[in-house]
Amino acid sequence: MTTEEMQKNLEKVFAERFGGEGNVYASAGRINLIGEHTDYNGGFVFPGAIDKVIMAVVRPNGMEKVRVFSVDIDQYVEFGLREEDAPKESWARYIFGICREIQKRGGDVKGFDAVFAGNVPLGAGLSSSAALESCFAFALNDLFNGNSIDKFELAKIGQSTEHNYCGVNCGIMDQFASVFGRKGNLMRLDCRSMEYEYFPFNPDGYRLVLVDSRVKHELADSPYNKRRESCERVAKRLGIETLRDATMEDLEKIKGDITAEDFFRAKFVIEEKDRVLAVCDALNAGDYETVGKKMYETHNGLSKDYEVSCEELDFLNDVAKEMGVTGSRIMGGGFGGCTINLLPDSLHDSFVKEVCARFNEKYGHEPQIYDVVISDGARLVKEAPKA
Ligand code: ADP
Ligand code: MG
Repeated sequence: MTTEEMQKNLEKVFAERFGGEGNVYASAGRINLIGEHTDYNGGFVFPGAIDKVIMAVVRPNGMEKVRVFSVDIDQYVEFGLREEDAPKESWARYIFGICREIQKRGGDVKGFDAVFAGNVPLGAGLSSSAALESCFAFALNDLFNGNSIDKFELAKIGQSTEHNYCGVNCGIMDQFASVFGRKGNLMRLDCRSMEYEYFPFNPDGYRLVLVDSRVKHELADSPYNKRRESCERVAKRLGIETLRDATMEDLEKIKGDITAEDFFRAKFVIEEKDRVLAVCDALNAGDYETVGKKMYETHNGLSKDYEVSCEELDFLNDVAKEMGVTGSRIMGGGFGGCTINLLPDSLHDSFVKEVCARFNEKYGHEPQIYDVVISDGARLVKEAPKA
């Protein structure tokens, strides 16, 4: 369903359920072009919002309660604004959480009616949950707070919602990207200072395609915690807070004092930081070939040094390379999920066809393909006519 069709349908459903019209809001899922496993090392991430959104029609209802209908899940939930307990439906917990987190910060939330739907694939690594959070955070800021809550706070409201109501201990990148996203721009977020900068992403003649392996390897020994611990050990040995402040020369100097495993983990993180900066320069110069090259280097580092890849993702990367895809790498934490691919327009159809066929032949199911375009984040799509 296109975003326009979704909007039409939502307006219709809103009218049937609540009568009349409301404001239409949307917020986006996100990709991360480069900068993986860097957030907890004080480094950079490089996300952008995409043309897949959660959209909601929202209108104050003059009551002390929230009434929401999820079109995709076909469920209706009501909760009071002073209620202690979050709803049991997982999607409603996000909305409940956003209300609570705004109130906790002294913001205003009054009763409202809403219907919402989305085309961000769920659980595919595109952060549908952040899109949902920022759509409602943006809407409630606009409707009840005169947009006085700043955008960074909106992102934090989404993040706190995940922490406090959804049991997900996430960083800030997803919500940041969803709130701040801007068409034709990626954002470099410094996870130490929280400073950010927009970079042009107008890859004329190229496309971004995600290939979702639809595998998720559950690993017993908390590999993510182990990676973090390696990074922390090396930082400590270097007498710095995070690997953000380390260079390869620093690392080489202590090579004899740390395990080979810790060495390679830290090597990846240090090199990844430099790759993000190199990609920024390349984007400013419109040099997408270099961007692609850096993406391959990231994949290689994630696979060989950081060891968070898996057979399926390495296979997808190999096929991409063989076919002349400009850049390809694991996106997200690893051990399954997607690769993100930058490729010439002319290669798109043959790549998609071949990667699906070859993956299917080897692993018994086709990967899911998502074409994405870098687009706007949280926004007011349409204002309802004044009553
Ligand atoms: P993701 O990686 O996509 O963020 P999560 O598991 O964090 O995956 O979030 C998915 C959850 O977000 C769903 O279980 C649901 O509660 C909510 N959600 C996302 N998209 C929708 C939608 N279109 N309609 C209803 N709920 C949604
Ligand atoms: Mg999520």
